Amino acid sequence: MSLTNTPPTAELQALDAAHHMHPFTANGELGRKGARIITRAEGVRLTDSDGHELIDGMAGLWCVNIGYGRSELAEAAARQMRELPYYNTFFQTSHVPALRLAARLAELAPGDLNHVFFAGSGSEANDTNLRMVRHYWALKGQPERRIVISRRNGYHGSSMGSGSLGGMAAMHAQGGLPIPDIVHIDQPYWWGEGGAATPEDFGRARARQLEETILALGPERVAAFIAEPVQGAGGVIIPPESYWPEIQRIVDKYGILLIADEVITGFGRLGHWFGSQSYGIRPHIMTIAKGLSSGYQPIGGSIVCDEVAATIGQDEFNHGYTYSGHPVAAAVALENLRILDEEGIIPRVRDEIAPYLAQAWGALADHPLVGEAVSRGLMGSLALTPDKASRAKFAADPGTAGYICREYSFGNDLVMRHVGDRMIIAPPLVITPTDIDELVARARKTLDQTWAHLQREGMLRAAA
Ligand SMILES: *Cc1c(COP(=O)(O)O)cnc(C)c1O
Repeated sequence: MSLTNTPPTAELQALDAAHHMHPFTANGELGRKGARIITRAEGVRLTDSDGHELIDGMAGLWCVNIGYGRSELAEAAARQMRELPYYNTFFQTSHVPALRLAARLAELAPGDLNHVFFAGSGSEANDTNLRMVRHYWALKGQPERRIVISRRNGYHGSSMGSGSLGGMAAMHAQGGLPIPDIVHIDQPYWWGEGGAATPEDFGRARARQLEETILALGPERVAAFIAEPVQGAGGVIIPPESYWPEIQRIVDKYGILLIADEVITGFGRLGHWFGSQSYGIRPHIMTIAKGLSSGYQPIGGSIVCDEVAATIGQDEFNHGYTYSGHPVAAAVALENLRILDEEGIIPRVRDEIAPYLAQAWGALADHPLVGEAVSRGLMGSLALTPDKASRAKFAADPGTAGYICREYSFGNDLVMRHVGDRMIIAPPLVITPTDIDELVARARKTLDQTWAHLQREGMLRAAA
């Protein structure tokens, strides 16, 4: 008998391996290795079933913006469960948490983004957006406007619709994606794809692919463009400053709808309530999830501008989810927004923590394995390379070096993720400068170990 309520790790791992299918995981391999079992968390730190403490450099999955262990959110959930644990909003009813959350989001969102359609997740919200923009154009008498343009290596979720909007080749290779009438253009990834161009010229050229694609398809067939202000799951790809102004010009010129997928960049991650404000983008629809509840409850949604909402409202929109605007999730989200606001977390990110991270994380650029070390707000990434000067890729399969690095990171009790051969972080917004120093020290140790490993195995070779 163990002295705590938690059985020994091996027992938990065996149960997990026998019955639990993990997302985005080679389950056979994980089953042999055993998953790390996370049992508790507080602030920016996780505790596993062996009692090790880890720094969570990823805020869970980019979502725990206010950090772990805020009992106010637990109390908000308990209160709401006792009062009204569930009701729907389909058939001419509403409830207080959903309507208050919608009103609060309308207040926080820029411009005339004043209307909220709730979902249970970011994937569901992007499915909503796909149907909403096509239905919008049908109601405007232009049903041939069906094509949504998105980007290669963009991420918009994992359902059939949102996975199709995303541009992840590995996802499209399984299960018959993408669905029709979604067209992908290239990403503004200067370090990896910019060649000899300056970042600014490259950013403009990549934005102009939108215009070229609109013209090639016929502007009368294009419904919308969707993109993340900063690509997250694609590897924290920060676009050159020239990119978004050019995209905005093109969207305005052809009158297509702009959907900003703010699932990661919303709720403070870039130092503003929304990433669109950080880049001066004027979207017609914003996708939200993750930081909306700091991950304490599953909830997502679409914040929609006056014109689109009024048009959609002319008719019955045959769409919705049982848990659209779930009262417990909405109550928790409201409490999360209150904390973000009243504790001044977002201005602190903008004025203190993001500049501190930029400097501390940016200093990793001097490491022999690091081609670039960049951040925006509290999203950061490192490009691993066998040759900094030429921005070379490794001769080994893409992701091999990244995976090795990620294994050392985990061993050093730092949760840092790898996307191919990029290492990424997105810590809770409440991280302190002292925590950042510790995070960066563990990252540097990890890079040293990875470099030594690659050296030993003869893997510091560039692709031909
Ligand atoms: C995570 C994510 C999604 C999908 O959200 P889920 O809640 O996992 O369905 C959509 N867009 C972006 C930008 C994301 O990072």
